[in-house]
Amino acid sequence: MKRIIYIPLDHLHRKFGALKGANSQEDVIVLVESARMTTGRNWHKERLFFLISSARHFAQSLEEEGFSVEYIKAATTIDGLKVVEKKYPKLPIVCAEPSSFRQFEALKEYGVSFIENDFFLTPRPLFMDWAKDQKSFLMESFYRKQRVRLGVLMNGKEPEGGSWNFDKENRLPPPKKYEGPPYLEHKRDEIDSAVATELGHKPTTTWATTRKGALAQMKNFFDNHFDEFGPLEDAMTSENWALHHSLLSPYINNGLLHASEVITAAVKAYKTGSVPIESAEGFVRQIIGWREYVNGMYWFLGPDYRENNELGANRPLLPLFSDPTKTSMNCIKQTVSDINERAWVHHIPRLMLLSNLALVTGTNPQEFLDWMREVFIDASEWVMVPNVIGMGVHADGGRMMTKPYAAGGAYISRMSNYCKGCAYNPKLRIGESACPFTTLYWDFLDRHKESFAKNHRMSQLVFGLNRLSDLPELKVRAQEVLKGLEAGKI
Ligand SMILES: Cc1cc2nc3c(=O)[nH]c(=O)nc-3n(C[C@H](O)[C@H](O)[C@H](O)COP(=O)(O)OP(=O)(O)OC[C@H]3O[C@@H](n4cnc5c(N)ncnc54)[C@H](O)[C@@H]3O)c2cc1C
Ligand code: SF4
Repeated sequence: MKRIIYIPLDHLHRKFGALKGANSQEDVIVLVESARMTTGRNWHKERLFFLISSARHFAQSLEEEGFSVEYIKAATTIDGLKVVEKKYPKLPIVCAEPSSFRQFEALKEYGVSFIENDFFLTPRPLFMDWAKDQKSFLMESFYRKQRVRLGVLMNGKEPEGGSWNFDKENRLPPPKKYEGPPYLEHKRDEIDSAVATELGHKPTTTWATTRKGALAQMKNFFDNHFDEFGPLEDAMTSENWALHHSLLSPYINNGLLHASEVITAAVKAYKTGSVPIESAEGFVRQIIGWREYVNGMYWFLGPDYRENNELGANRPLLPLFSDPTKTSMNCIKQTVSDINERAWVHHIPRLMLLSNLALVTGTNPQEFLDWMREVFIDASEWVMVPNVIGMGVHADGGRMMTKPYAAGGAYISRMSNYCKGCAYNPKLRIGESACPFTTLYWDFLDRHKESFAKNHRMSQLVFGLNRLSDLPELKVRAQEVLKGLEAGKI
């Protein structure tokens, strides 16, 4: 044997990363299930089940291909590597660049050598080149460059459909009594059962744990959901938990699928003529735009970025985040119940419900970030840190997004059917039945009016505070709401 190849549990693709040039005669493959990863935090069991079972299936597929595979359980990744080094002394250890600062440092210190991380479509140095010249890091300008560079949905130099962005068409509320096509279910096998037993968990059938299952999920999306993806992208309804979202993030993030495979399939489906441009463009923007931008920003902003708390938000995490019975807010109750069930909700509940609530209640960004990291099936450091600290709770003072994503009940009422079954009224900002989002939205603007008045995208909203004749009562109600939320009684 000539090399030890270490495969982190988010590099599970045979054709990318360190496995790209691997050879079963010369390379020993190592995967490590570290205790830090499994028991180190209050991880959602569905998430652990997905990550561990995917890794074990992947290890099995490499063995079937003829590789010597060492699948190690150890306290830490480095402890796992030490075990393998004893068995194969003096072999160099190779890995594709890991996806977090922390793992990068630990492996570097141990003497692992790296090959370029190609699990994204944008090499890290290329993103740095773009970011270093930007005054404000507008995703849209990065995205347009990506479309041209990667030649996706382009007609020569012009964007397909005559426009770069069809966002305006992609903001429909949910249709009444909405029933979409049934969601794909994934059968469980022996490996799944063993992992489930070890974890003491009864997994859903929502998430595949094999490459084959991930490919089936991708096919299901393009066959049954892609054409309607765009217009209903931002809608939320208690009648359908995912609408037409692809449910592909866990697989793209752990390597069972590569972003290039998803984009190739999207362009192919669009070329059949049955998918409207607003859906095709909307989806492509998520993959070659948002996903790449967020990863690039993680590396650009550096390891200390996660500690930002520019709004001085220090409220401890509210009890409703871990226990949906601790709130009567229907939108939050539904969202947290959905997370408890399958470790996933789409981007609007993540942004406009969960993060919005953390933002307007002044919840400590790091406590909220830790909770989000623990409960989502697709969470990793590189993706959660910019999405939460920069986009979700504006804790970076506007470095990433020019304006906080704060909203009152009117937005949630327009984009969902949650308010109909709620104890509160989205139109009211004072009184016992006032929607907590509406009250706290104005209270939030008032608390930060001095700094927001200097932001040209916020100054009009801050100016709107002058029109609130009931601001003194609203401030009193906001304190009641905050106390009630802390006590789990709102
Ligand atoms: C506060 C917050 C936290 C988030 N945390 C995560 C996370 O931990 N992991 C994660 O993968 N996504 C995260 N996202 C992005 C997005 O919510 C999820 O990627 C998406 O909901 C996954 O479901 P899907 O595959 O059906 O996505 P679709 O709606 O079908 O979108 C297609 C793909 O686009 C990519 N994508 C879209 N938006 C983003 C984004 N902002 N960042 C990265 N990728 C994106 C994902 O790979 C996704 O699979 C977060 C967004 C917000 C606002
Ligand atoms: S009224 Fe307010 S709390 Fe209730 S569901 Fe609507 S937005 Fe959520």
